[in-house]
Amino acid sequence: MEYEVVIGLEVHTELSTETKIYCGCTTEFGGQPNTHVCPVCMGLPGSLPHLNKEVVEYAIKAGLALNCSITKYGRMDRKSIFYPDCPKNYQITQDELPICRDGFIEIELEDGSTKKIEIERIHIEEDAAKLLHTTVGTLVDFNRSGVPLTEIVSKPDLRSPKEAVQYLERLKSILTCIGVSDCKMEEGSLRCDANVSVMKKGSDIFGVRTEIKNMNSFKALEKAISYEVDRHIKTIEAGEPLTQETRRWDDTNNITVVMRSKEYANDYRYFPEGDLVTLNIDDEWIEEIRKTIPELPYEKEQRFIQQFKIPKYDAGVLTLTMSMADFFEKVAEISGDAKSTSNWLMGDISKIMKENDIWIEDLKFTPEQLAELITLINAGTISNAIAKKVIVDMFNTGKSPKTIVEEKGLIQNSDTDAILEVVKKVLDSNAKSIEDYKKGKNKVLGFLVGIVMKETKGKANPQIVNKLMNEEIKKY
Ligand SMILES: [Zn+2]
Repeated sequence: MEYEVVIGLEVHTELSTETKIYCGCTTEFGGQPNTHVCPVCMGLPGSLPHLNKEVVEYAIKAGLALNCSITKYGRMDRKSIFYPDCPKNYQITQDELPICRDGFIEIELEDGSTKKIEIERIHIEEDAAKLLHTTVGTLVDFNRSGVPLTEIVSKPDLRSPKEAVQYLERLKSILTCIGVSDCKMEEGSLRCDANVSVMKKGSDIFGVRTEIKNMNSFKALEKAISYEVDRHIKTIEAGEPLTQETRRWDDTNNITVVMRSKEYANDYRYFPEGDLVTLNIDDEWIEEIRKTIPELPYEKEQRFIQQFKIPKYDAGVLTLTMSMADFFEKVAEISGDAKSTSNWLMGDISKIMKENDIWIEDLKFTPEQLAELITLINAGTISNAIAKKVIVDMFNTGKSPKTIVEEKGLIQNSDTDAILEVVKKVLDSNAKSIEDYKKGKNKVLGFLVGIVMKETKGKANPQIVNKLMNEEIKKY
C-alpha cells in the first residue's frame, strides 16, 4: 500500500532580548549556575512577574516577517505542569490568544515549484530551568528559567522529511535575518519537535500521530522523521495498533524511544494569568515594528538573481544566512565577477569552514581579500589550481592573496616560449599518446596537458598550454 506522510513542526526559539520575559535578569547564555536569577525567575512565593515589552516587540516582528496577522487584544495564560525545572508548577504562556496567527513560509520543491507551509500560531512563553543529571543527583540551574521563547507551530502541511528540513532552514534564516533570535541549535536557542503520522495515499483522515523531541540538528530532524515514518508503516502493515505518544530521538542508536504517553491539552488546565495585565497592541506600534524589518532572505534571493545574474540555486544557498549573503555581495561588487564569487563561497570556502567547524564571521580573510584573489585569477596572474592553494593559506594566515603569491613565487607563467619547450619535451617522451591521438582518441590531450601542468608545478597558464598542445601534437 502507498502512504502519505504528514508532518507538523513546533519550533521553540529563544529571543535575543537582553533581559528575561518576566524579570530584569540577563538572558546571556552560560554563566555560573544560578547567577542570572532573581525571586521572579526562580518562582519564589509572592514574587510578581511583569511582561518585558521587548519580547512582545520581537514576537510581533517575527509574526510580520512570517506573514502572520497580529492579535491586538491578547493575554497570557498559566499552563499547569509539575516538573522540578518549573517550581511555580505552572508556565506563563499563551493559550487561546497567541500573539500571531495564520502566517506562512514558502519552501521550494524539487521540481522547482514553491509550496506554502502555513503557520498556525506564534506565542510567547518562558523557558524552564535546566536540569543537570549528575552522579550525586539532579541539580537545577535557573539561569535559563524565564528566558523568552516563541513557539512557532506549523500546520501539518509538510509531506516529507526533506520538506521539514527545508521549512526549518527557511524559518531559521528569516528569524536570524530580522535579528530576533540567533537560532543556534547547538546552544538550544532553536529547538524543534515534530508531529508525525502516515495515512493511505489520497485519504484525508490523518493517522495516529507521535511527537518526536530532542532533535538538535537538521540532520537529526531528517533522520528522526524518516525513522518514525518507517516505524509507523511497519506497525500498520503488521496489523498492530499505534499509540499517540511522545518519543525522544536517540542520536547514538539512530532510533526513537518512548518518553511518555501524549498529554492532551486539557491535562494542562490552562487559565488566564491574573498577575499580568491584558495585552493591547495598537496599529501604530505594529507599523513602527514593520518598518524595522530588513530585506528578507527570499527577497534578497530574488534580488541576487536579477542584480548579479547568478543561478537560482546559488542565490538560495547564499541567502541562507545573512552573514554569507553580505560577504557574497561585497566580494561580487568589488571583483565584478559574481559567479566566481559564488563558486568560491559555495565550493572551497564552504568546505574549509565545514572541516574546521567555523562560521563565515570567523574567517581570517576579508571580502576584499577574496575579491583580490578572484581578480588575480581573472587577470591571468595565477591559475585556478594555484588559487585553490592560496585560499587555504589565506584561511590559515589571514594574509592577502597578493602577499602569498609573491612570497611563494606562485605567479602564473604566461611565457609562450618557455611553455612551448615543456610541451615539446612532454610530446617527445609520450610517443604512445601521440599514436592514440592519431587514432582519434582526443582524450589524450587532457592527459598530456596534465603532465605539462605537473612539470610546471601548476604555474603554466592553462589556456596557453592547451593552445600549444593542440597545435604541436599535429606536427608529430
Ligand atoms: Zn529573574
